[in-house]
Amino acid sequence: TNFWSAVPQGPPDPILGVTDAFKRDTAPNKVNLGVGAYRDENGKPYVLESVLKAEDILHQKRLDKEYLPITGANDFITLASELAYGKDSNPLQEGRVAVAQSISGTGALRIATGFLSQFYNGPKVLYLPDPTWGNHVPLAEGVGLKVQRYRYFDKKTVGLDFNGMKEDIKNAESGSVILLHACAQNPTGIDPTQEQWKELSELIKAKKHLALFDMAYQGFASGDIIKDAFAARYFVEQGHQIILCQSFAKNLGLYAERAGTFSMVTSSPDEKERVLSQIKRVIRPLYSSPPVHGAQLVATILGTPELYEQWLGEVKKMADRIISMRDQLYNLLIELKTPGEWGHIKSQIGMFSFTGISPEQVQALADHAHIYMTKDGRISMAGLNEHNIKYFAESLSKAVK
Ligand code: PMP
Repeated sequence: TNFWSAVPQGPPDPILGVTDAFKRDTAPNKVNLGVGAYRDENGKPYVLESVLKAEDILHQKRLDKEYLPITGANDFITLASELAYGKDSNPLQEGRVAVAQSISGTGALRIATGFLSQFYNGPKVLYLPDPTWGNHVPLAEGVGLKVQRYRYFDKKTVGLDFNGMKEDIKNAESGSVILLHACAQNPTGIDPTQEQWKELSELIKAKKHLALFDMAYQGFASGDIIKDAFAARYFVEQGHQIILCQSFAKNLGLYAERAGTFSMVTSSPDEKERVLSQIKRVIRPLYSSPPVHGAQLVATILGTPELYEQWLGEVKKMADRIISMRDQLYNLLIELKTPGEWGHIKSQIGMFSFTGISPEQVQALADHAHIYMTKDGRISMAGLNEHNIKYFAESLSKAVK
């Protein structure tokens, strides 16, 4: 018996599809700006020195491969949540943050949506910025949460539509769940300013909404892990019981290790215990317990002062290289008298830049210049380097002329 003849072909992943097209192209000067992973100055994947040293330390330790608890390794979740919330964070010190290790940021979001769909008493609606990381939608809808959008990107200014954002959050039913990118918004690279975050905190509090922070790029945006944690930490200081989804994929370059945390601020240690008991029941049927190696690497780096200092330097180096590519790209586009306003290339933050070019121009760049990016005109700044930036600027300039 054939059971599967009725299974329809699914659509290709919009981001991984770009990589496929890039791989098929045989031109020697091809450029891949689709991928969301850091590349060094020669366009190669980069393993951090601090990670290599932590690998050596772990290798020497000859640790066992016993199962971790359902909520993961204790040293890891303690150090990871101190990194996100700050060591002096009140709810951490008062023992009322429920934390579980997760399968990187995606897994943290999946715990969040799973928990919300079962236990949230407010409207089961997740408000996402428009646009957002594509995976947010199935992560919510897959567990029966409704998805709504709030305005975020202003096409005209290639900036933040702050008034639209506030209006939509204000008009959302009281108690809705509002997903916020903690920093380096993907895909736009546009973040609210600190003053705007403060306004958002007031508004979200007044509406009794629940703030869910997706923190996939701490340190990667500005090079400073404290600055990049501003929004989440400010909300916590203001008394929001936030949910936070933390990823170590980008800031430690641990993409494939799948290390992250899910956490929730609760009102008391007792409530934390009850919440944790249910978080365990969300995780258990998904994967029983998390993988150990990535968590050990993170805990070794965060828990060893010399490695921690070295890592801070390396995050800054990655962020600075990206920022320098932004400056160079902007200057080249101006030198080439490229029509349009390109200031956003410099003001945007993090891995990505929304260029503002049309899908036709994106296609033309692939067809004529062997340059690949997602259809929405998003480029990964990390894919640019001294060897290809001039070629990219010239090709982009031609494409919009
Ligand atoms: N959230 C956002 C906004 C992201 O950009 C990403 C990575 N592309 C993630 C979450 C999750 O990534 P990971 O599961 O690899 O940690």
